[in-house]
Amino acid sequence: MSDCIFCRVVTGTIPSKIVYQDDHAVAFDDVNPQAPVHVLVVPRRHVGSVGDFEATDAALLGHLALTCVKVANQKGIAQSGYRIVANTGANAGQSVAHVHFHVLGGRSLAWPPG
Ligand code: 5GP
Ligand code: ZN
Repeated sequence: MSDCIFCRVVTGTIPSKIVYQDDHAVAFDDVNPQAPVHVLVVPRRHVGSVGDFEATDAALLGHLALTCVKVANQKGIAQSGYRIVANTGANAGQSVAHVHFHVLGGRSLAWPPG
């Protein structure tokens, strides 16, 4: 989708600090980090939110989860701990309608979230 920010990040039309990429997933630093490590993991294919995944996307979802783990290892936060978040819809504050998993770490994270 040409009007989707993260589709543009995936194609490189919008520059970003790519952390990891493969045929199905792209991980890049969040432009407005909320923690010392704050990476976004997205599918290359446009999917609006986790609510738009279908049964046939099970492998893709698993791949995205494993990509989050890979990123956490790569960023050196696997041992200290981290959080994977997928804000979904208005009440969760989802601001970009291309599904993305936040990988946050590098500091102690409060719970419950706001
Ligand atoms: P949401 O609020 O939808 O859960 O998260 C969207 C995230 O995307 C925010 O943390 C925001 O900082 C990040 N973001 C928005 N636009 C861009 C961009 O153009 N580049 C990067 N790297 N991150 C972005
Ligand atoms: Zn998109």
